[in-house]
Amino acid sequence: MAVSDHVDFDTFMAGVKKRNPGQTEFVQAVHEVAMDIFDFIEDKEQYHAAQILRRMAEPDRVISFRVCWEDDNHNIRVQRGWRVQNNNAIGPYKGGIRFHPSVTESVLKFLAFEQTFKNSLTGLPMGGGKGGSNFNPKGKSDAEVMRFCQSFMTELYRHIGPETDVPAGDIGVGGREIGYMFGQYKRITNRWEGVLTGKGIEYGGSRMRPEATGYGAVYFMQNMLKHQGQDIEGKTAVISGSGNVATHAAEKIVQLGGKVLTLSDSGGFIHDPDGFTQEKIDWVKHHKTHTRGRISEYADHYTSATFHGDGARPWDVPADLALPCATQNELDEDNARSLVANGVIAVSEGANMPTTLDGVKVFHDARIMYGPGKAANAGGVAVSGLEMSQNSERISWNHERLGEMLTDLMEGIHGKCVEYGDQGGYVDYVKGANIAGFKKVADAMLA
Ligand code: GLU
Repeated sequence: MAVSDHVDFDTFMAGVKKRNPGQTEFVQAVHEVAMDIFDFIEDKEQYHAAQILRRMAEPDRVISFRVCWEDDNHNIRVQRGWRVQNNNAIGPYKGGIRFHPSVTESVLKFLAFEQTFKNSLTGLPMGGGKGGSNFNPKGKSDAEVMRFCQSFMTELYRHIGPETDVPAGDIGVGGREIGYMFGQYKRITNRWEGVLTGKGIEYGGSRMRPEATGYGAVYFMQNMLKHQGQDIEGKTAVISGSGNVATHAAEKIVQLGGKVLTLSDSGGFIHDPDGFTQEKIDWVKHHKTHTRGRISEYADHYTSATFHGDGARPWDVPADLALPCATQNELDEDNARSLVANGVIAVSEGANMPTTLDGVKVFHDARIMYGPGKAANAGGVAVSGLEMSQNSERISWNHERLGEMLTDLMEGIHGKCVEYGDQGGYVDYVKGANIAGFKKVADAMLA
């Protein structure tokens, strides 16, 4: 009997909204992907009949748990933790853990959904997942963060494993938090295994992992420019964020001869018209990671710079290149218009879904090069994939070798986007990333 349960795009999205009430970020992410996939699968019976997209847009599992921890004043604090296991058709669930007050089930579902396509694009065997908590590490002591991480892992450990689900870092989860969580996993299970990536190099981490997301976003930018016969050298760049992704993106832009004009945090942005040198970037890295300070203090230290407060974002500063490296929906339609009016030629996203759907439309209408996060920031999880291989094989690659592998991986991702997104000269990287990412997962599900 022929199966003809075809639904159109509007009916599909109405169903997604109905099944996920109030989950705006998740619905937004599905909407963006579904627009391209519906075009692609229009005449492909096998995907329709199996309702593949509908299955992908429903996480395999959403694990939700209570996390209790004791603060330094001996108060018992209660938080919610989640792990969203979205899809493991092509490999174990893989994706970061985010600790931030904005974390909700919807945010983690959107991130796990995006991660599925991103991980597929890397070409490595990794499924998609994401986890986190509304815990805010800002202003907490090391001991408080440690107790929280241990408590979080006490719940999470039973759901993960090197062949099951391999978490890593994300916003609010860096080397310190990974160390605390890995230690707790090892303590509970009495197993040393590659259950987390982003570990310190002393205990099985990859030498390139801290740099990988930021460097990868710049390599993606470089590939987009190269495709149009251009280069980063001599170009100006606006970057948002000042964490791991932003500072490493800034570092690579500078190494390739570009000039970085801005960095930011939730308090506002720094504009340094002289450009961020390596020494200045090192100051930011140290200030953010060790002192856990605010970006505003940069202007007290380097008088060439001005600080723009009240949560201002850097998108009105004229530049050739833009790299949103902070968080989701940080660049809206007006910001996109401002960037385009000021002559931006390429955008490469270090963050996940930093541009709103309306913002993306502005970039596409203006036919500027626009690399969405799921392609442009895939370098981070790609090097996580290499860390998984290193752990399984009990080997360790040096910095140079990993650097070469990252460069090749980003070139490969760019190539796949061009293959599926070329519209006769103009490359729609969103379409390219969505279709290439979808195809591998869908074919695996069908198989
Ligand atoms: N959190 C990063 C991302 O959004 C990395 C995930 C990982 O390494 O597993 O892709």
